Amino acid sequence: RSGGNGFAFFEAHMQDGVRDQLELSRDLRTALEDGGAGLSLHYQPKVAGASGLVLGVEALLRWQHPRRGPVSPGTFIPVAERFGLITTLGDWVIDEACRQIADWRDQEGLKLRVAINLSVQQLRQPEALLQRLEQALLRHRLDASQLSCEITESVAMEDAGATERVLQRLSALGVSLSIDDFGTGYSSLAYLRRLPVSQLKIDRSFVQDLETSADARAIVNAVIELAHALGLEVVAEGVETEGQADVLRAKHCDKLQGFLFARPMPAQELAQWARRSQS
Ligand code: C2E
Ligand code: CA
Ligand code: CA
Ligand code: CA
Repeated sequence: RSGGNGFAFFEAHMQDGVRDQLELSRDLRTALEDGGAGLSLHYQPKVAGASGLVLGVEALLRWQHPRRGPVSPGTFIPVAERFGLITTLGDWVIDEACRQIADWRDQEGLKLRVAINLSVQQLRQPEALLQRLEQALLRHRLDASQLSCEITESVAMEDAGATERVLQRLSALGVSLSIDDFGTGYSSLAYLRRLPVSQLKIDRSFVQDLETSADARAIVNAVIELAHALGLEVVAEGVETEGQADVLRAKHCDKLQGFLFARPMPAQELAQWARRSQS
């Protein structure tokens, strides 16, 4: 009997989850139809390990839901992917990031490279993606080198041949590419060497364990050496402590990103932060 009850409970719970996702997808669609009402990008600096200068930032999506308040991208990105909204959302991110780069240039005299995150479904529609990028760059009179795209290692490994072709075209456009969450996806070195990427981002899970685990230190060390041997720049993500930063700098990690330096913040605040850190 209790098994029956347990099942009923489980089912109701599942339905709640689905209903919840449906509701979120509906609200997200409304937000997108409304020109991105409630959506914004926050920006987190990538700080040069040696000089402490900020030359680039990562754009991270934020959603202020009309009734629920802030919903994290960890929740709504999967919903967007599941309900066919991710390309529209991704297009919004491209336009907004380019608008912001131009705005920093025109209003603040600030030159920052912005990295956006791409989802697998955007890469599966290369024509639409390239067109959107080209149009946004043109509209705001931006050099393609001011934009970069982060693709997770697991996405890059999926359908390797197709991914390689899209990345070649993105690279030909002039945007720089980085492999995100590196170390979690078991990519083959032979494959990695063929991709036109210029940056590897070491996954936060390794950075977190740097001070306590010899294995994590060994992996981070190996990734940095591998990246440098391939002529790639290395960024460590999720740096939270001085101890982690010290280890990474000692190993000549090129750039550091994490709460130790700055949390992702609204564009206005980022501009002030960048100015302070540059002077
Ligand atoms: P990600 O690309 O790996 O982004 C890094 C995440 O780590 C961000 O979470 C960031 O806020 C967080 N983070 C940065 N520094 C630290 C730190 O020192 N400690 C800790 N604990 N966390 C740190 P966020 O903003 O919640 O984004 C989560 C994920 O959502 C991103 O992971 C990315 O996969 C996805 N995402 C965010 N924005 C976009 C977007 O515009 N498009 C797509 N397709 N995905 C996005
Ligand atoms: Ca990222
Ligand atoms: Ca990452
Ligand atoms: Ca990550």
